[in-house]
Amino acid sequence: MNFAPPEAQSEAETQIAFTGNLIDPQSEHRTDDAAGKALKDPVARLMLVREGRLCLKVADGGFDPYFSLVEADALEARFGEAVLLGRSARGPVLAAPYDSEKEALPDNLKAIDFRSVYIQGLLGGEDLGALAQGAALLSWHESHRFCGRCGGETVMRAGGYRRFCAACGREHFPRTDPVAIMLAVRGSECLLGRSPHFAPGMYSCLAGFIEPGETIENAVRRETFEEAGIRVGRVAYQASQPWPFPYSLMIGCIAEAVSEKVDPDLSELEDCRWFTREEVSRMLAGTHEAGLMTPPKGAIARHLIAGWVGRE
Ligand SMILES: [Zn+2]
Repeated sequence: MNFAPPEAQSEAETQIAFTGNLIDPQSEHRTDDAAGKALKDPVARLMLVREGRLCLKVADGGFDPYFSLVEADALEARFGEAVLLGRSARGPVLAAPYDSEKEALPDNLKAIDFRSVYIQGLLGGEDLGALAQGAALLSWHESHRFCGRCGGETVMRAGGYRRFCAACGREHFPRTDPVAIMLAVRGSECLLGRSPHFAPGMYSCLAGFIEPGETIENAVRRETFEEAGIRVGRVAYQASQPWPFPYSLMIGCIAEAVSEKVDPDLSELEDCRWFTREEVSRMLAGTHEAGLMTPPKGAIARHLIAGWVGRE
């Protein structure tokens, strides 16, 4: 982005998935018909999304997430619902839903779920960042077709950064749901838990939605106490991660625990306990004797854990 030179990016911003967006959103220039105008530009490129999957071209040695207007049309892109992500050096970039069935795609196209796109490293950081922006915006539009105040039908404005209700005049703005994710630490140990839906052997940081009226610090303290029975004192922000499932922002913190006895909420966690630095180090390196592991590279939880251990 032209307002954030690359040298301003922290190390975290190059290591955490979905954080590398370089599209200039040009927010101050968004007119009501910004998306329609961008779609008239012959060099416009679109990301195409359908049911939580991104359409990718299988290109030489990699994947290309961008489609020309003609290519998008052939895949039944819904241009009227396209959102404008902004401008790249190569012209306007948009994201749109499309209607072609997964099974009907030609061999050189694949529809891959967002999570796999990130876990399998199919896209570079810059394109993953654009995906986070496009996927979050499109999800918000999909679930805000009607006015929350009067029930009237709403229409898209400002290239997708607003919806307007003609019936009552209310404007609606895209939302981002903040989630606190924290590594509670105490001396040479840190607190990790596992939910039943995690991959076998995986342990991670605790996390939870920040509630209305709550500070980040208190959300960290509340979630850690509710999930693990551990009391937290000082909380320090470390890094954040856009998380397009469907439109969250993960806010990563280190939390200083002031109690020791873990009392896990077994309705949410199947296990939660203290781990020594040495044990976590083996989990990060993939050499743990029982096969325990941390989340993969690119996950903010791993960034918090690795930062505390002092490796990577
Ligand atoms: Zn209304």
